[in-house]
Amino acid sequence: MFQPGFEVSTLSLLKPDEMVDSVYEIDLKRLKELGICGIITDLDNTLVAWRSCEITDILAQWVQNVRAAGLKIAVVSNNSSARVQELANKLGVAYVAKAIKPRRKAFRKIADEFKLTPEKVAVVGDQLFTDILGGNRSGMYTILVTPISKQEFIGTKIVRCFERFFVNRTKKA
Ligand SMILES: [Mg+2]
Repeated sequence: MFQPGFEVSTLSLLKPDEMVDSVYEIDLKRLKELGICGIITDLDNTLVAWRSCEITDILAQWVQNVRAAGLKIAVVSNNSSARVQELANKLGVAYVAKAIKPRRKAFRKIADEFKLTPEKVAVVGDQLFTDILGGNRSGMYTILVTPISKQEFIGTKIVRCFERFFVNRTKKA
């Protein structure tokens, strides 16, 4: 009997369903056609630049567009609660801070709040090992965005080298 090896299953969990340059390029109509009814989005380098507390008009408009398209939206971030809370409140969306992605708990919590099964939820984020891995482990649709800011922890930069390796691998797969 065929059993997928560790590498195959791990690679598939790191493979986003979609890749876009920014959240603004996500085709909301197409998501609805795929049966997606809610978006769980990362904060840093996905919606705002790292450490930024600024909500641009275009971002506020995007959140409105998401809702107008009939999709629920929430923020799930591994960052500390005060800043995540401030930004989520400015955007008027539910949030989970200190989410410990790729753990599934925060994704499940929001899906429960949305009253949606995992396959009806899309996870959007800029990092493979937190956002995409956590979303895929949760059985959700996953969308990788290009990170907004280059102001990152050195640790994140190192992780990105690994990410590029896996992205290149999954492209070839
Ligand atoms: Mg991020």
